[in-house]
Amino acid sequence: MPRPTQAYIDLAALTHNLNVTRQYAPHARLMAIIKADAYGHGLLHTAQALKQTDGFALLELDAAIELREAGYRHPILLLEGFFSTKELALFEQYQLSAVIHHNEQVAMLSTCKQQGLDIFLKINTGMNRLGFSPEQFPSALESLLTNESINHITLMTHFANADDAIDNQSFTQQLQCFNRITTEYELPYSLANSAAIIRYPETHADWVRPGIMLYGASPFADKTASELNLKPVMTLSSNIIAIHQLERGDSTGYGGIFQADRAMEIGIVACGYADGYPRHALTNTPVLVNNQRSRTLGRVSMDMLAIDLTGIENAQLNSPVILWGKGLPVEEIAQAAGTISYELLCALSPRVEKTVINPI
Ligand SMILES: *Cc1c(COP(=O)(O)O)cnc(C)c1O
Repeated sequence: MPRPTQAYIDLAALTHNLNVTRQYAPHARLMAIIKADAYGHGLLHTAQALKQTDGFALLELDAAIELREAGYRHPILLLEGFFSTKELALFEQYQLSAVIHHNEQVAMLSTCKQQGLDIFLKINTGMNRLGFSPEQFPSALESLLTNESINHITLMTHFANADDAIDNQSFTQQLQCFNRITTEYELPYSLANSAAIIRYPETHADWVRPGIMLYGASPFADKTASELNLKPVMTLSSNIIAIHQLERGDSTGYGGIFQADRAMEIGIVACGYADGYPRHALTNTPVLVNNQRSRTLGRVSMDMLAIDLTGIENAQLNSPVILWGKGLPVEEIAQAAGTISYELLCALSPRVEKTVINPI
């Protein structure tokens, strides 16, 4: 029997979340974000479940080419653009769209031989990560408008704080900045990530860029995915591979940081930080054993973790344990580990076998 650690990828849930995204932004085109191996879910089956999208976006050129070679004819946008003229030639060959965010890329574009390249011109409205400043933007746009290789230009920005429920001042400033500098151009716009799609309909414009919501996790700290009608796509599961009876005072795992305050039964689960389970999650992080809620005990090891079997019915060797996913939102584990769902999903280790379920 193989090691029982598995990530189940629910394709019907992906398609459901795509449809929910359309309901949130009925007038925009959807650019499904599938960077980082589709947030850890696996590229090709994710693309397949999202094939009704209007476009795909990612950062990895090899993955973009893989999509083209698999037959996808959608617009495919590379979120950091190209890094050399050699790469630019591949954009032309495979008809890939590029985010343009600095002048070196504008200069490389003037060496283009073919026509018909689509670009997204990125404006830095306050996140200060990528993009032309409001001052640099007009001249960058001017030089793109006069470049005959370029077909469509979309103006784009990215919000730093669209998920913040308490303070929307930074969001408002970014939106006002974008509107102020783009209003004189009759070009399509793209602004919204998942948080803005749900919370700020005024940002939908021509293209929205949903990521995390497609994978069924909430972009907000104050709203759960199920409140947003999203379904988890990835379920990380494993089995109990050993059972121990602890006496009062016994401990489990490295450092002995969990000590039993009474006699108790514990299970050892075949999942650790080398599988992508966060080591920062200490005692009391929730798990589901035989569909009953329990908790982790002590430190997560590289390949295993310990769980409390107190009060769990029929817990035995090979009992299934869900680490996150169906019935146990990944956001809860992220919170226990001091991180966000994005990081846990993307950090799923390649050694964890992915099994596709509910194919469409
Ligand atoms: C990753 C990314 C998104 C998607 O963000 P979510 O919060 O996952 O919806 C959108 N736009 C850009 C530019 C990104 O890099």
